[in-house]
Amino acid sequence: MRLVLLGAPGAGKGTQAALLKEKFNIAHVSTGDIFRENIKNNTPLGSQAKTFMDKGELVPDDIVMNMIADKLKEFKDNAGFMLDGFPRTVKQAEFLKTQTKLDAVILFDVPDDEIVRRLSSRRMCKACGGITDSSHKNCPSCGSSDLFTRDDDHEDVIKSRLKTFHEQTEKLIDFYRSEGLLLNVNASGTPEEIFNSVLDLLNHDKN
Ligand code: ADP
Ligand code: ZN
Repeated sequence: MRLVLLGAPGAGKGTQAALLKEKFNIAHVSTGDIFRENIKNNTPLGSQAKTFMDKGELVPDDIVMNMIADKLKEFKDNAGFMLDGFPRTVKQAEFLKTQTKLDAVILFDVPDDEIVRRLSSRRMCKACGGITDSSHKNCPSCGSSDLFTRDDDHEDVIKSRLKTFHEQTEKLIDFYRSEGLLLNVNASGTPEEIFNSVLDLLNHDKN
């Protein structure tokens, strides 16, 4: 199974990716995570990406497409994966089409005001990389108290990430609808509710 997870920042793509990974045993490829890993390790790719990420802008297509092309080489003919955070522009989507055949694109649909609420209370765990929110003092996954706010989860950057999504990434909804790949999930509920909708849609899609 080869999937793309599509949705605004904070729509819950990462959370659903973790659940899908457990259920279907497919790899989770997050371009944002790859960039953050590169920033942590002070690589040239990391420093290139950081200037854009800090402003809530997209990393230029050429950089991202090179990186993802390398990554996709790791997957043999029928190895499954889901792409989280890629593609984000029509150019990236056209490029992806030359690299692999997708089974479905899952769109996580959440209103903007809820996105802003979620992102401003989002916290990450330094110990395990897990995601939680400001109502927790400790990480629900590993118990660590080392929780922090991601650099781009501050209000001004959240606003520009949303703007970037509406201006560039939202076009992919029509793109994938016309390819007959789009599955639309109402992503306003709890992670479990959303996951059940995803499983339902994937099931129907098969029949
Ligand atoms: P979110 O979906 O919550 O915004 P991500 O972790 O997916 O977070 O991405 C963080 C940042 O990394 C983005 O705001 C952008 O700057 C950069 N980025 C990630 N994926 C891409 C991509 N496919 N194209 C361009 N920039 C990207
Ligand atoms: Zn943790």
